[in-house]
Amino acid sequence: MYQLATGLIQPGDNLPLGTGAIVAAVTPADESVLELFRFTGAYLEGHFRLTSGLHSDRYLQCALVLEHPQAAEKLGKLLAGALQEKCVDTVGVVVSPALGGLIIGHEVARALGCRHIFTERDPESRKMVLRRGFSVEPGEKAYVVEDVITTGGSTAEVIAVLRAAGAAVAAAGSIIDRSGGAADVGAPRVALATLNVAAYKPEECPLCRQGIRLVKPGSRPT
Ligand code: ZN
Repeated sequence: MYQLATGLIQPGDNLPLGTGAIVAAVTPADESVLELFRFTGAYLEGHFRLTSGLHSDRYLQCALVLEHPQAAEKLGKLLAGALQEKCVDTVGVVVSPALGGLIIGHEVARALGCRHIFTERDPESRKMVLRRGFSVEPGEKAYVVEDVITTGGSTAEVIAVLRAAGAAVAAAGSIIDRSGGAADVGAPRVALATLNVAAYKPEECPLCRQGIRLVKPGSRPT
């Protein structure tokens, strides 16, 4: 079991779970976050079908980091700090899309000392909505937080829900940005680690050609 009492695991630490080299371009600050993923077995290598339908040889499974409350709290503090650096406003609420954003959104809100609420899909319309009595005040400032941004679609939907309700979205944040920084959600955005992970169309995937078994690690049923 790892210890987070003295901070994130540092690059170069002797980790028991060696998973090979990271080829993604990351900054040194991001590397400690990725080390945490590797250390908790959340940095998977193989042959994966991403939610986008593209295939990749690696996958960051946030749920496997966030199953450790200490790690979740640490990541929440880091993301709260990054959001405040991006946007100095004091926010009243953190809003996340269910399910992926729930734990990290809760931990960001804990670090900021504000509320955390979430949106979910209406079973009939499939539209993102606030349910369960959740609401925002007109003009209330909000951060939108999820675990991983790939296209930014979920975060953009949450931002639209909040703006329609009269809230002011100060910034959006995620633990991982899988878009290489390209995703535009229509608000200032931060991520703890920005990755440029190679992804292939199925018909062009070298892993398919090698006959490697395809895994669907994501949370959404396909
Ligand atoms: Zn493939």
